[in-house]
Amino acid sequence: MPSFVSKLPATPVSIFSRMSQLAHTHQAVNLSQGFPDFAVEPELIKLVTTYMQEGFNQYAPMPGVLALRERIAYKYQALTQIDVHPETEITITAGGTQGLFTAIGTLIHPGDEVIIFEPAYDSYQPSVEAFGGKIVPVRLFAPDFEIDWEAVREKITSRTKLIIINNPNNPTGRILTKADVTALEELVDAHGLYVISDEVYEHLTYDEQKHQSILYSPILRERGYVVASFGKVLHATGWKIGYVIACARLTEEFRKIHQFNVFSVNTPMQWAIADYLSDADYYTNLAAGFQAKRDYLSTALQQTRFKVLPCEGTYFMLLDYSEVSVQAELDFAIHLTAKAKVAMIPISSFYSKEVNQSLLRICFAKEKVTLDRAVDCLLHI
Ligand code: PMP
Ligand code: GLN
Repeated sequence: MPSFVSKLPATPVSIFSRMSQLAHTHQAVNLSQGFPDFAVEPELIKLVTTYMQEGFNQYAPMPGVLALRERIAYKYQALTQIDVHPETEITITAGGTQGLFTAIGTLIHPGDEVIIFEPAYDSYQPSVEAFGGKIVPVRLFAPDFEIDWEAVREKITSRTKLIIINNPNNPTGRILTKADVTALEELVDAHGLYVISDEVYEHLTYDEQKHQSILYSPILRERGYVVASFGKVLHATGWKIGYVIACARLTEEFRKIHQFNVFSVNTPMQWAIADYLSDADYYTNLAAGFQAKRDYLSTALQQTRFKVLPCEGTYFMLLDYSEVSVQAELDFAIHLTAKAKVAMIPISSFYSKEVNQSLLRICFAKEKVTLDRAVDCLLHI
């Protein structure tokens, strides 16, 4: 047998797969992996079916169906007054994960350093390492997970190439302020860095708070990739379709890798989504529904011994269980799934070094009846 050197020797099976599997084994309410349990709109399903029946079943253009890219450009113009060029600045991807991987692959050479903020979404580190880069984590902690930009500056070296941000943030549920984006802009400008802004939850900000896309900043617009996902917008995480926005120069480089990574994304769904999202109001109405779920669940959880941390965006909330158990997060998450029949995600799995804050992430993109079942289980623990 020839020897085989793993590129990712320390990377385990994702915590999302692990906890979903455990939930299945124990027939627990699965509030771990982030996905809605309500149906995709029948009208959208009908549109996909119609496009398939009408023969839209061959390769889409490599950067994506133009009608869909035009819809995305229209959305940015209508909601944010930002101009994005559909032909040169938008590429349709097979979900946010592929967008992130390809953007990272476009920027990272062996030895490059990448600053990430922990708790960090699980795909950043392995994607950076697969291309020979090295992550430099900035650790943020509960309860507010605020970024100390001076501490970030101290982590910058001559090898630093990229900063990855996720706003709104999974798993913390926090959002960046305008001052945060300004601080980021200053660092990027002063040190000649690039940015990947994971904005897959851009439409899920609550209590009238505005999402601060990096696209508002002329400096970051020239130095960054924005990653988005239709999985979150259409309640269809299994469709694996999203997009990446960047200036023409960065998009051209992105597509060099994209065309050999997936080439193009499935055709009938692109046409269907382009038709379905003709009205920009669709996006503005999304947050209200999720905010109602957030409020419903946090009120219901007040009857339990779990404490809810503030959630400004995404469809995740953090629960502090320090009054319930002294177990470490992963152990407690496993215990809860087996005994209380509710599965959640330990926050420690979003850090590269052991940390224990007695926090679990709970997904509230669920029907009321599912949330009720979960609260009922947690009442008896
Ligand atoms: N980034 C974040 C922060 C996410 O939570 C997710 C998945 N929910 C993704 C990227 C990946 O998106 P997709 O499912 O479209 O690949
Ligand atoms: N983004 C989803 C979450 O945070 C999971 C995606 C996945 O399973 N890879 O739960």
